[in-house]
Amino acid sequence: MPLPWLKMPELWQSRSGCGILDLINYKENGGTRMRTLLKGGSVVSGGGARRLDLLVENEKVAALGRNLKEAADRVVDVSGCFLFPGFIDAHTHFDLEVAGTVTADDFASGSRAALRGGTTTVIDFACPDRGESLQSGLSRWHGKAEGKTFCDYGFHMTIDDWNESVRNELPDMFAQGISSFKMYMTYPAMMLGDRDLYWALKELKRLGGICGVHCENAGVIDGMIAEKKAAGALSPASHPATRPPWLEAEAVARLLRIAQTADCPVVIVHLTNGEALREVQRARRRGQTVYVETCPQYLLLDESLYNSKAFSDAARYVCAPPLREKGEQDVLWKALRHGDIQTVSTDHCAFTLEQKAMGLEDFTRIPGGLPGAETRGELIWSFGVARRKISAAQMCRLLSENPARLYGLFPRKGTLQPGGDADIVVYDPSGSRIIRGEDSVSAAGYSPYEGFATSGVIRQVWLRGCLSVEDGTVLEQPPHGRYLVRGKCSL
Ligand code: MN
Repeated sequence: MPLPWLKMPELWQSRSGCGILDLINYKENGGTRMRTLLKGGSVVSGGGARRLDLLVENEKVAALGRNLKEAADRVVDVSGCFLFPGFIDAHTHFDLEVAGTVTADDFASGSRAALRGGTTTVIDFACPDRGESLQSGLSRWHGKAEGKTFCDYGFHMTIDDWNESVRNELPDMFAQGISSFKMYMTYPAMMLGDRDLYWALKELKRLGGICGVHCENAGVIDGMIAEKKAAGALSPASHPATRPPWLEAEAVARLLRIAQTADCPVVIVHLTNGEALREVQRARRRGQTVYVETCPQYLLLDESLYNSKAFSDAARYVCAPPLREKGEQDVLWKALRHGDIQTVSTDHCAFTLEQKAMGLEDFTRIPGGLPGAETRGELIWSFGVARRKISAAQMCRLLSENPARLYGLFPRKGTLQPGGDADIVVYDPSGSRIIRGEDSVSAAGYSPYEGFATSGVIRQVWLRGCLSVEDGTVLEQPPHGRYLVRGKCSL
């Protein structure tokens, strides 16, 4: 396989001398083993944290143990640090056309931002246009990602149309490693009606697939937007006003009754509020399997940000569902602590402030979405673990183990066990940094968490045994993220 960048080894050699070139050289020299020993850290799993040394051999975890004496080519002192299985972000949108523009982050900048944040696997959304085959949409997404993605990646498949040909294509999707799907109850270009949601879920039940659903009541939101427009209330403050939490809760309740009818488990993506969560709990009490995802923005930011005087200060937070009242944050943190919410992903969908300005005269034209892949790990540690709202083990479940199980990647991903991929986040709880948009890797050019002080920092990120981030810097390396063929849900 021709690798043009091999001609420039000095450029790709990482400071610590264990970059991808070392791995490739070792392989080319007759498969010699490259062994790295991470010594003195605490290895975190969903069950707790234990003082263990960790031996990496080429791309895999080879052994864990107290005071490992195994011979290694290199020993890395990680004492005082927590070693997490590489984080999985199961909700990103890179290189996506939205509202007449394209997200600021493509698979290159988006995946570098993700790596910076300890995310070694993203699951993005392949979104075929209506009328386009799933296969064609999937090929387009492979084209966007292949050869330019810096972390490992998979795709959920968006179902924005339901008919015989879509139904017939579904088994091919599973065969190509896609076991999870996405449906929308809002957005005219993508939403499905109740009948199609029902039929699609019924078919996914038969095939053993899992589906994430964006739950908001489209019709009433449309009506409220029309009223705001008629009244000339076109500023970003109208955005949360037209998408109230109870219209999310209504859609969650309706979806769950549809899922009950189809007898199919579902994932509620980006859940934002207690009313919606109560609908989930009701469904669980009647025996349904419901998984819930929330995002850092709903845990840490609130709707008062939409009232900023300057347009760009408010528009930067426009996303759907919108940020909620501050009181909802406690509800969500409690739900994380009690295990009512299974995953925290980001819904990373970045636009520059220049792009956000498309909606200067009309809030409905502001491209919706926030950058978040880069800061999730440090934020969840700082405002969750360090403040004793959740434990390190819970953080591991939310960011690594549960998404790996839910989306068919476990135990290759989501856990640090012999035989699994050596995707490792070395978290140093003693460090701290101030989050600044100007320091960020994402092409958004701003951070929604500007000025937030972290407790602890990500010191290193290893992707399949290759040191990829050190002290906040993504090391200069060619993109070597791999497409992940995923199996079925095991959560
Ligand atoms: Mn999304």
